[in-house]
Amino acid sequence: MQAQKVEVIRQNPSDRSSYEGLVGSITASITTLSYLHVGSGQQIAFKVIEDKVSGKTRFEEDYLPFASIGRFIAIPGSSVKGNIRSRLELSFKSKDGKVRSCFIRGSRLYGAPQVGKHGWRHYRIWEHAVKEERGMPCDHTAGAPVCLICNIFGTAGLKSLVGFSNFFGEDVTGEPQNLEYEMKLIAVPPNTSFKGSISFRNLKPEELGLILLGMGITDSKVGRPVLFGRLKYRSQVSGRTFGRIKYEVLEIRLSKFSQPLQMKGRILMEPGSYEKERLDEIVKTLTNHALHTYEGEFQIVKEVDVVEKLQ
Ligand SMILES: [Zn+2]
Repeated sequence: MQAQKVEVIRQNPSDRSSYEGLVGSITASITTLSYLHVGSGQQIAFKVIEDKVSGKTRFEEDYLPFASIGRFIAIPGSSVKGNIRSRLELSFKSKDGKVRSCFIRGSRLYGAPQVGKHGWRHYRIWEHAVKEERGMPCDHTAGAPVCLICNIFGTAGLKSLVGFSNFFGEDVTGEPQNLEYEMKLIAVPPNTSFKGSISFRNLKPEELGLILLGMGITDSKVGRPVLFGRLKYRSQVSGRTFGRIKYEVLEIRLSKFSQPLQMKGRILMEPGSYEKERLDEIVKTLTNHALHTYEGEFQIVKEVDVVEKLQ
């Protein structure tokens, strides 16, 4: 398939020097629906074995560790940000030859990979987006305008409007996995929960709605199953499934510096307040507003369902 050249819609980024629009935070959880491995950036792990008889040391391949902060297993905020951002980049599609998001990693595509070749599952899931030639990613270092997603998540020369804490679990222990192709890694089992927060500033309601859509959340505070971490594109590895999670919103807080959250003349949340009870209603209003604002340009993909059908 031929890559299709599209134009990325770019504008001057919103003002970062003062508070305007929505300012606050979302407390959220990530619950594993399968095994999950999130790496620490390390590609290969070794342990040193000392031979007491010969006095020599040798190296033996070790389990790839799960990411940790201090002594605790955790999902780094940067991984959560990357997961949500790339889901948004890939959910946008062009309308009349124009698209709202660049691809920040800027990976060019030369035709669809054949089945079994590197990246083919990724391509199949996100075909509507990855077939688009979006050109170079946004770069604000010389003051050039940026796309919608770079305005929210930042890019070269531009700070992000959203901040992601590390996500920690309670009493989480990693389990060593000996997998096919001699893969050795530490993974957490299904039904493990991690908790963290996402801070935001100077967002419009539809942009806050986009953050939620990027978490796989639409009609309620609990999101649909989405892919995360290593081995997520495989249905099974050594009889186990990896990389299925769901996000859930636990609380939304508006700073006293925020504008009220107001939709169609109705105030849903006041500055300086927090919400735990009416989350379904608030989440649904925000995501519907985003879907309406970007109608015909945003496609919700049930990525886990697609991956299961690819096998
Ligand atoms: Zn961009």
